[in-house]
Amino acid sequence: MRSTSPVWHPFTQHAVQGEMPTIVKGEGAWLEAADGRRIFDAISSWWVVTHGHRHAQIMQAIRTQTDNLDQVIFAGFTHPPAEELARRLVAITPPGLDYVFFSDSGSTSVEVALKMALGYWLHSGEQRRRILALEGAYHGDTIGGMSVGERGVFNAPYEPLLFDVARLPFPRPGREQATLEALDQACRDEAVAALIIEPLILGAGGMLIYPPWVLAEMGRICKAHDVLLIADEVMTGWGRTGTLFACEQAGLVPDIGCYSKGLTGGALPLAVTLCSAGIFDAHYSPDRRKTFFHSSSYTASPIACAAALANVKVWQTEPVMQRIADLAAAQARGLDRFRDDRRFTNVRQIGTIAALDLAVTDAGYLADVGPRLYGEFMRRGLLVRPLGNTIYLMPPYCSTAGEIDAVYQAIEAVAEVILPG
Ligand code: PLP
Repeated sequence: MRSTSPVWHPFTQHAVQGEMPTIVKGEGAWLEAADGRRIFDAISSWWVVTHGHRHAQIMQAIRTQTDNLDQVIFAGFTHPPAEELARRLVAITPPGLDYVFFSDSGSTSVEVALKMALGYWLHSGEQRRRILALEGAYHGDTIGGMSVGERGVFNAPYEPLLFDVARLPFPRPGREQATLEALDQACRDEAVAALIIEPLILGAGGMLIYPPWVLAEMGRICKAHDVLLIADEVMTGWGRTGTLFACEQAGLVPDIGCYSKGLTGGALPLAVTLCSAGIFDAHYSPDRRKTFFHSSSYTASPIACAAALANVKVWQTEPVMQRIADLAAAQARGLDRFRDDRRFTNVRQIGTIAALDLAVTDAGYLADVGPRLYGEFMRRGLLVRPLGNTIYLMPPYCSTAGEIDAVYQAIEAVAEVILPG
């Protein structure tokens, strides 16, 4: 039945969407609905909640900040939470990322990165405009993000708005060299401004993993051709792949890094785009036409910055890496039972992220099996939102081994319903 609510939800086809729980509370890895139902948040509420819902220190920092400053225009003004946060981010991200530009979401952090790259080349006096991206990539739903993302059902209606990019094949196992050669060739053939990548794993593109050596090689090739490398760590950042940032595993220092989602521990929307001094310096000029023309009204919201600062402190004062290692071990144990199970293919894991594909003939994002799986998990009190036939888990780091085990038992039960016998 058609809902009477005026709310239009994201990535939701209201004509087929079933009953939507009203969530009134979050605690640790759990959500609580108005009717008292408890739901285990196995995807960290779209990958943002890292330590768990309502982490005490982050909630307290938000309350404290509201006693002092709610908002101030960030052009021509600054404030302590932004200044301290920026310093701390420069200290913990790969060395060489020296300047911090604030925005509000993963998508806007990507827009900023693309604009920084083009501005850099223009202001440096070089005609480089071509952007390279990976096949299957997802970088957000704004125009630039969609342009560099894989083309498909998600963005087909908006195609007239999108700019053209050159696409490299995804480095599938055994086909890594083809990607590297395509990158090298593209850098020789065209005036390439930047390569944008999701380091080590494509998220929304299907949780597809590639090894650190490929990432390191991509970095080396970009450097050899003076091509800027944009690392979109919006999903991979803040511990998801087992290290604080995925680039660390390849010893890669990007020219530009995008971070959001777990930046505030998942409490408030905030994003940052970090860049090298060279990129900042190209815009640094008495010529006001070289100003970096980007802003949004809430740039560097003091309350969101205070939340992010508290999050960084949580990383420094709590055994977060140990929790990540424990969660990764629990995921590995859970996946093990499916490694030889013919109902599943591509059983895979990187750090705290686990994924496996249900062996059905209708795959792809719009496959009917996706909503069926979602419904079966919800009936069992689990928020699992498959990407087509790909079931993945990306839970908060406070999840216990018992909770993770229960999710895998549910996967077993759901597989028996969908693929009986
Ligand atoms: N980049 C990557 C790699 C993402 O996974 C996402 C979102 O999932 C985005 C960008 C867009 O982030 P947001 O949804 O916060 O705009």
